[in-house]
Amino acid sequence: MAGTIWIPGAERITPSAPGGNITSNAPPRVVWHTTEADPGTSSVWSAMIRVLKNKSAEPQVLWDPLTDRLGQFMPLNVGGRALRNDGSTMTNRVGQVCIQIEVIGRAAKPFTGYWKPGKNFRAFMAAVRSWGIKEVWPAGPPPRFIASPPHNVPESPRSRTIWLNRGGHYGHSHIPGNDHGDPGGISTSALFAAGGTTPKELFTVGQYENLMQQIKNEGAATRQEVRRQAIWSLRYGVQTEDERARADKAFDDAIEAGKTLAEAIAAVASVMRPIDADLERRARKNG
Ligand SMILES: [Zn+2]
Repeated sequence: MAGTIWIPGAERITPSAPGGNITSNAPPRVVWHTTEADPGTSSVWSAMIRVLKNKSAEPQVLWDPLTDRLGQFMPLNVGGRALRNDGSTMTNRVGQVCIQIEVIGRAAKPFTGYWKPGKNFRAFMAAVRSWGIKEVWPAGPPPRFIASPPHNVPESPRSRTIWLNRGGHYGHSHIPGNDHGDPGGISTSALFAAGGTTPKELFTVGQYENLMQQIKNEGAATRQEVRRQAIWSLRYGVQTEDERARADKAFDDAIEAGKTLAEAIAAVASVMRPIDADLERRARKNG
């Protein structure tokens, strides 16, 4: 699985230590934080870097919502350090990627209410999408946060089952074993709208087969390239983790059994056909 590792345009920041090795197979995800400081100046930018490094609590990404300044402490495919462990679970390393972003702002004053997202924010969101992270909030939108006494409204359930099994976007306030309430009640629709577009159209089996054939015809069809394309297509064309896993497995099994690429693609297509019919049925139902 390969997505963007260093976000184009992000400033490199030296972390206090390298990020943690990721071995998790759980679906990829993002965790949103706020640093609890007011954004917009270069002095707060330097101060936040200092604070995060002193606490050894660096995320992969730091972002100022007023200036659109974007920094990166470490590659996106290693574990950050902004979450506390949940018992023996190394929370920072759950997910094929677990991308953490510290937004300079305050949980009690949602940053989507006053921000000025620009091209660096869009580059961040594009990098997130490159890992197949869906624009969903498995634990619900981040709850509101009130400063005094500090707590989320409503209180956040912090489900271990959801965190360990579902991909998408989370707030620090959703994470088991943690007690911070950030990033507060940000607008999830504004967040995704400002982040640029995600392909909304679903791939049909026919389009999928054409794409695979095209890649093969171009002659550069190494197994890895076809696989990468297959995964990409499946991410956008198939809606659930289960559906993706079924199609992915069909491809792997065929290759491991010594089948040709064409046969492997046919195997994926045969799995996708019932999915495709189901997607059509669902689309019709949704009007
Ligand atoms: Zn946090």
